[in-house]
Amino acid sequence: MATVPAEPGGDHPMLIGVLGGGQLGRMLALAGVPLGLSFRFLDPLADASAAALGEHVACAWDDAAGVAAFADGLDLATFEFENVPLATAAAVAARVPLRPGTAALAAKQDRLDEKRLLRALGIPVADFLAVDDRASLDRAVAALGLPAVLKTRRDGYDGKGQALLRTPGDLAPAWTALGGRPLILERFVPFVRELSVVAVRALDGDQVFYPLVENHHRGGILRRTVAPAPDVGALQAEAQAHAGRLLVHLDYVGALAIEFFAHDGHLIANEFAPRVHNSGHWSIEGATTSQFANHLRAIAGLPLGSTAARGHCVMLNLIGDRPDPAAVLAVPGAHFHHYGKAARPGRKVGHLTVVADSAAEAAHNAQRLLALVDDPAPAR
Ligand code: AMP
Repeated sequence: MATVPAEPGGDHPMLIGVLGGGQLGRMLALAGVPLGLSFRFLDPLADASAAALGEHVACAWDDAAGVAAFADGLDLATFEFENVPLATAAAVAARVPLRPGTAALAAKQDRLDEKRLLRALGIPVADFLAVDDRASLDRAVAALGLPAVLKTRRDGYDGKGQALLRTPGDLAPAWTALGGRPLILERFVPFVRELSVVAVRALDGDQVFYPLVENHHRGGILRRTVAPAPDVGALQAEAQAHAGRLLVHLDYVGALAIEFFAHDGHLIANEFAPRVHNSGHWSIEGATTSQFANHLRAIAGLPLGSTAARGHCVMLNLIGDRPDPAAVLAVPGAHFHHYGKAARPGRKVGHLTVVADSAAEAAHNAQRLLALVDDPAPAR
């Protein structure tokens, strides 16, 4: 621990340790510098996206000496990557306050535990069953019916580690691809759209919620977010009630996102993320206080800021390739975010946000941006 009590904006800059050094860490640092915060990242990747914005400890997650060196001298720590091994997070939490705490990580790392927790809190989820061997897959399909989605319980992200089962003939190839690991089978939700909410809980328990946003995925990867989502009506209050229960249950401090399916006039939770979230990136330019600034305010014990939208936004993820910034910035209201990552197929390497006074203008300018993105086919 630092010997001089640090305070944001004080003479001794507060040093925040971030487990994970990807683009989320990078954007946290970009939001934290104006608050007088400085950053240290733990990420095994030598070319971690966030390394340009602070100190970088490049060690393996299970390198005890490296983790101790990371924690040494921090004022507090947080994480931007939800698959940080629990033992690593616990080792950090034993030395400095970790916000949110290990309970949030533990609740998230296995999809079966996650779904059980959501259901126990009265947050609707698609029916699901654990699948541990081929016979239990057959039983689960018999019980839930088809179509259904088979997912790995651990380490899945961006649609990786999952298979849509439409017909009985899909079971064998899905088992070949995914079998041998703990799995979960979920009933397929014939949703009308996908929505998500980012919620933030302060150290003193205060809670704020961003407007629901509408997400469009392709290949399991988020491609486009429309913020705020149009015509949500009572779903906003429903989302806030669900998120609020989860925050309180986890005694959570910081930003958390829940992804929902809108179905039959209600929300069904797909998953939560105990961190800032891709569907909240619009808030950097499109909200009074960004999700990154509010996460930092929460963990540093500062008052939370307004989550109100400042207009209408469309956020486009840049997957695998980045367009020419000059062409992007020629579009009115457009903002370019470069993650400093080498371009590779399927990799999130940046995002674009367009902000406008009306939803129609935002959609129009987003179409202009889509034409510049390598993969302009409209996302589902
Ligand atoms: P996930 O990795 O759980 O976030 O899933 C990635 C995407 O797959 C979601 O955003 C949905 O588009 C789709 N998906 C996942 N689970 C289901 C489900 N039970 N029913 C329908 N679509 C799903």
